[in-house]
Amino acid sequence: MRSNTERRVNKKKPLSLYIHIPFCVQKCLYCDFLSAEASGQEKEAYVKKLLEEMEYWKKTLQKEYVIQTVFLGGGTPTCLSAEELLGIGRKLSELPLAVCEGREGKGDKLFFEFTAEANPGTLTREKVQALKEIGVNRVSIGLQSAQEKELKALGRIHSYQDFLDSFHLLRECGFNNINVDLMADIPNQTVESYQETLSFVTELSPEHISSYSLIVEEGTPFYKMWEEGRLQLPDEEADRQMYCLTQEMLLKEGYQRYEISNYARPGKECRHNLTYWELGEYLGFGLGASSYFKGCRFSNVDRLQEYLSLAVRHLQKEKKLLSKKEEMEEYVFLGLRMRKGISAEDYKRRFGISFYECYQEVLPVLFENFLLAEDKNHGRIYLTDKGIDISNMVLAEFLL
Ligand code: SF4
Repeated sequence: MRSNTERRVNKKKPLSLYIHIPFCVQKCLYCDFLSAEASGQEKEAYVKKLLEEMEYWKKTLQKEYVIQTVFLGGGTPTCLSAEELLGIGRKLSELPLAVCEGREGKGDKLFFEFTAEANPGTLTREKVQALKEIGVNRVSIGLQSAQEKELKALGRIHSYQDFLDSFHLLRECGFNNINVDLMADIPNQTVESYQETLSFVTELSPEHISSYSLIVEEGTPFYKMWEEGRLQLPDEEADRQMYCLTQEMLLKEGYQRYEISNYARPGKECRHNLTYWELGEYLGFGLGASSYFKGCRFSNVDRLQEYLSLAVRHLQKEKKLLSKKEEMEEYVFLGLRMRKGISAEDYKRRFGISFYECYQEVLPVLFENFLLAEDKNHGRIYLTDKGIDISNMVLAEFLL
């Protein structure tokens, strides 16, 4: 029998929250994320504004939603002080969070995922305890590589030993859901050095591993170096081998690939990211944070001084109601990134048209070429391994 709390919670709409912390100790050479070095004063003012933003949304959220996942990302959230992290947590607890696993005195009936990103070199015992206290139950650590030379080439502030210290500290403090972020195609990286990084990390047995290829983004120091011919990147053949190696080694170690670049132990998939890929509603707080809320996409202003000085109700810019066609396309583009693909039944329920009918011209070709497959028992359509390999090309077929 269900308790009153569960019944009350289930009537409300599920929502995910993203909280952006746009600060880093030092900017990595490849990074084009919205993050920068900042003074203690700027961080303090920022956190104060974040809390105001959360207060502003509180009533709407309490009335209609139950928050099932929170992602404290950046930047480097762990470059805030323990006291600032606790302040964010206190404000969060005023919002309608689903019952939080691990949150004292609140039981564990509904799963609530609360992820914090952390970078080695910024984690102290005090901060880890603060994360625990505010209900964080999943930590994502940015390692990128276990090779000192490669970390240096990327402009990371930490060593592999710093990562190990952070990882063990988290385990010691009871974190049993940890993601490690890795990177392929680092300057001068070899297939062997990448393989060694994968071996080191799998030996630690984190619950989740992500591996993305480096992309040289315009406006970064790497871009300039690349233009000047000073960036030695692994060639296509090595890139291909690293890509295959990731899948081969992680599957052997008991991880499941549930998205193009993400692997998890069974049941440890990142639920917050699944919200994005399943076109669920989410609200972003903080500088430049984007939202998909009540059918609209919008994001906050992305200049710090503007964010700090504007009234909360004026923080949003570029509010855009998605047309039905755009929603249909996004649903497929994002959904097919997941290994389990998309549900034909859900598609019909959301958009009032059959997925098979909508794509009657492209589907037979994709099925015949083994790029797409169908799980008839569960009514799901998904990319095959071959389809994942050329996912950009396959997804382009779904433009309406
Ligand atoms: S730590 Fe992450 S967010 Fe910060 S500069 Fe490096 S890559 Fe960018």
